[in-house]
Amino acid sequence: MSKIQNVRGTYDLYGIAKRKAKKVIELASKTVENYGFEEIETPIFEFTEVFARNLGDTSDIVTKEMYTFADRGGESLTLRPEGTAGVVRAFISQGMKQNLPVKLYYNGPMFRYERPQKGRQRQFTQFGVEMLGVESPQADVEVISMAYLFLQKLGLEDSVTVEINSLGDKESRDAYREKLVTYLNEHINELSIESKERLNKNPLRILDSKEECDKIVVENAPLYSESLNDTSKAFFEAVLKGLDTLKIPYRVNDRLVRGLDYYAHTVFELTTDKLGAQGTVLAGGRYDGLVAEMGGGDVPGIGWACGVERLSMLLEDDVALKRPVAVIELGSDTHDAALKVAYDLRQSGLRVEHAYSGNIKKRMEKAGKANAYAAVILGSDELEKGVATIKNLDTGTQKEVPLSQIKEEL
Ligand code: ATP
Ligand code: MG
Repeated sequence: MSKIQNVRGTYDLYGIAKRKAKKVIELASKTVENYGFEEIETPIFEFTEVFARNLGDTSDIVTKEMYTFADRGGESLTLRPEGTAGVVRAFISQGMKQNLPVKLYYNGPMFRYERPQKGRQRQFTQFGVEMLGVESPQADVEVISMAYLFLQKLGLEDSVTVEINSLGDKESRDAYREKLVTYLNEHINELSIESKERLNKNPLRILDSKEECDKIVVENAPLYSESLNDTSKAFFEAVLKGLDTLKIPYRVNDRLVRGLDYYAHTVFELTTDKLGAQGTVLAGGRYDGLVAEMGGGDVPGIGWACGVERLSMLLEDDVALKRPVAVIELGSDTHDAALKVAYDLRQSGLRVEHAYSGNIKKRMEKAGKANAYAAVILGSDELEKGVATIKNLDTGTQKEVPLSQIKEEL
C-alpha cells in the first residue's frame, strides 16, 4: 500500500453531507412507511449469478461495472450494484410469496466500477422500494405517487420532472423489437461496436446507450407507442389517469426504456436539470417477468430506486440538529453534580453539551457555538442552596431553579 487515502470514487461522508443524506433517507422512509412499506436489509454481497442473471448480460452494470471477486472458498461473489436483485432473491429464498402483496424498502451502499465524476461514485447510496404481487395499474400509480410525495417533502418538486413511458406487455414488446431491429439493421454501420453486438442479444438496450453515435441513430428509431396493443394502451392510460387524479405532473417520454426482457408496462424517471449530466435522481419500472426469471414463479413487481447523494446535492440548506442544552460547571466541587444533571437530562431525552474545560466565558462561548438554547449553570454557592441557574441563551434572561425542577424548566 502506498498512501493512506480512500479508493477513487469513494467518499467519507460526514458533517453537512452526512446530515443531508440522513435527512433524505429519513424522509423517504417515513413517506413509504405511510404507504405500508416495511424495511428489509439484504447482504451487501450476493452470488455473482444473482446479478448476472437478473440484470441481463448486456447491461452496462454486468458487462463493465461489477465488483466481482472469488472468496476464499472459491465462490464468485459480487458487491451489490443495485438493490432489486437482492430483494427479489430474498423474496424467493424466504418464501415471502405466501403473503402477497409484499411491500419492501431498503437503503444502503451500492458498488459500481464507473468513471467517477460529480454525482457518479463507485460506492454510493440508494434508497429503493419494491412492491411484489400487484398486477393492476393502481400499484404503478401508488409507487410513482410515493416517489413524487417524497421529493415534494424534500422540497424539490419545482426542480424535478416525472418522465414516464410504457413498454407494454410481451406481445407489444415483441412487435416493437421487430420494428426496431429492422430499423437498426438499416443503420448498422453507424452504431457503436457495443451496440452492434447488442443488436442480436438485446436490441432494446441500444435505446439506452450513452454513446453519441448510437444516440443519433436512436433519435429517428420507431416509437414505442406505435407498437402498443390495446391492453397495453389501456394499462398505460389507467396509470396516467391516476397521476392526473393526484395532480402529479408528468411528461410522457417515448424514448424512455429499460432494455431488459422482464420489464413491462410502466417505466419512469424523476429528473432534474440542476445536476448536469447526472440528472436522473430516481428511476423505476414494472418488472413483471423478473421473479419468474429468477425461479420464483409468476409474481409481478414494480419498484424504484433513488441516488441518495444526488438528492442530497440538491438540498440547499444545511439540516438543523436538535438544539442542545449546555451544562456549565463552575468550580471543582461542582463536577459530580454537573455530571449527574447532564446524565439526567439526557436520560429524559434532551440533547446536552457538557462543557468540560475553560473559564465561564470560554464555556459560554462553547454553548453559543453549539447553538444551545439554554445553559444550566452550576456554581458552588448555588449547589449549597440546592439550586442551579438556568439562562435562556436566546433572550439572555436567567433564573434560579431548584435542582429537582431543572428538567421541567427546560
Ligand atoms: P445513470 O444513467 O446515471 O448511469 P442508472 O440508469 O445506472 O443511472 P439506476 O441503476 O437506475 O441508474 O439507479 C438509480 C439511481 O441511482 C440513479 O438515478 C442515480 O440517482 C443513482 N445512481 C446510479 N449510479 C450511481 C453512481 N455511480 N453514483 C451515484 N449515484 C448513482
Ligand atoms: Mg449507470
